[in-house]
Amino acid sequence: MPGLQREAHFDMSDVNTFVVIIPGDEQAGDSAGLLASARRIAAASMPGKVHAIVLGSPGEAAMPQKLLAAGASSVLLVSHESLIQPVQGGQLLDLLLAVLSDATQDSAKNKPSLFLFAASPLADEIAAGAAFRTGGTALGRCSSIEMQGEQIVASRAAFGGRIKVDLSALALHCFACIRPGEACVPVQASDATVGQVREITLCGALSIPLNATFEAQPASRRRVDAAKVVVSGGRGMGGPEGFEQLDALASALDGALAGSLPAVDAGWVPVTSQVGQSGNYVTPLVYVAVGISGTLQHLAGIGPNVRIVAINNDPEANIFQEAQLGVVADWRVVVPLITAHLRAEAAN
Ligand SMILES: Cc1cc2nc3c(=O)[nH]c(=O)nc-3n(C[C@H](O)[C@H](O)[C@H](O)COP(=O)(O)OP(=O)(O)OC[C@H]3O[C@@H](n4cnc5c(N)ncnc54)[C@H](O)[C@@H]3O)c2cc1C
Repeated sequence: MPGLQREAHFDMSDVNTFVVIIPGDEQAGDSAGLLASARRIAAASMPGKVHAIVLGSPGEAAMPQKLLAAGASSVLLVSHESLIQPVQGGQLLDLLLAVLSDATQDSAKNKPSLFLFAASPLADEIAAGAAFRTGGTALGRCSSIEMQGEQIVASRAAFGGRIKVDLSALALHCFACIRPGEACVPVQASDATVGQVREITLCGALSIPLNATFEAQPASRRRVDAAKVVVSGGRGMGGPEGFEQLDALASALDGALAGSLPAVDAGWVPVTSQVGQSGNYVTPLVYVAVGISGTLQHLAGIGPNVRIVAINNDPEANIFQEAQLGVVADWRVVVPLITAHLRAEAAN
């Protein structure tokens, strides 16, 4: 185990809810949404503050101020000059563990501490590692978390969303990943505290990084359950040519391609990309449903906070009841236009 050294300690003894921000994690949702969720959870506990721990370079100079504006009562930037890019879980875990003792060693307060991450494969790894190394509990990817008195109570979807598991944590320190589904509510000027921003630069040996190569996947091969944007086609796509158009749209949106059961049965999209009761449970920020009627079995695979954009030529299609944005049109007209527009934007 590497022994990371640091020159200063940071007083976190008055905080019980932490968000852990990983600026280099491209699969995680936005930090403002995570903070909004954390603030809501913290509001039920004393003293109701949320502290942000940023692992690695913040990426943009304005990030600490943005976190304060989004409701963090203080921000700790933890860096190390030998951190490799793209960031790796083992090294970020080293950074987190080096500062975690400040948050967890104050046994006098003897209250549960909750560490929240924006859900992503990297966050899953760090949260599980931190729980193991501190004797805490990894709650996994949670759909909701509450503080009930002195106890952390979480709900988690299992078996592709078909079962909801309620967990009451017994350990003092819990680590959970949540998908930031809440819009960021700016902090009222009257509530705003002048938050402290501190920076700690660690020195010493970090974990040896894995020798990894990263390859961009085409939209049709990306995992639908981890994507921020999912473009999904149904029977209304009419054939594999329709899915080529959807693949182009998904790529332009940097998303993943998915489909309904009939599209899978027809062989237009692989079964691993099926969304619905007997397929994947997806929770992207945006779900673009094209030529999909919106049956209950399909909607069962889409998380409750997902924003749905529907394109369907039947104005009576049920999907419009669920969509935040609906376009009544033949996809053959609309989809190529949107893709061309996005490509032109990207080129500019
Ligand atoms: C036990 C069980 C499990 C199931 N599991 C799943 C599951 O996991 N996932 C799933 O998806 N289904 C599942 N189903 C099937 C489900 O009941 C529906 O049959 C299916 O969701 C319908 O898929 P669809 O919307 O693609 O097709 P349809 O219901 O046929 O809808 C096609 C839509 O395309 C539109 N359309 C047609 N042409 C165009 C065009 N040119 N432009 C724009 N729009 C157009 C039509 O207006 C229509 O609304 C399950 C069923 C059962 C019984």
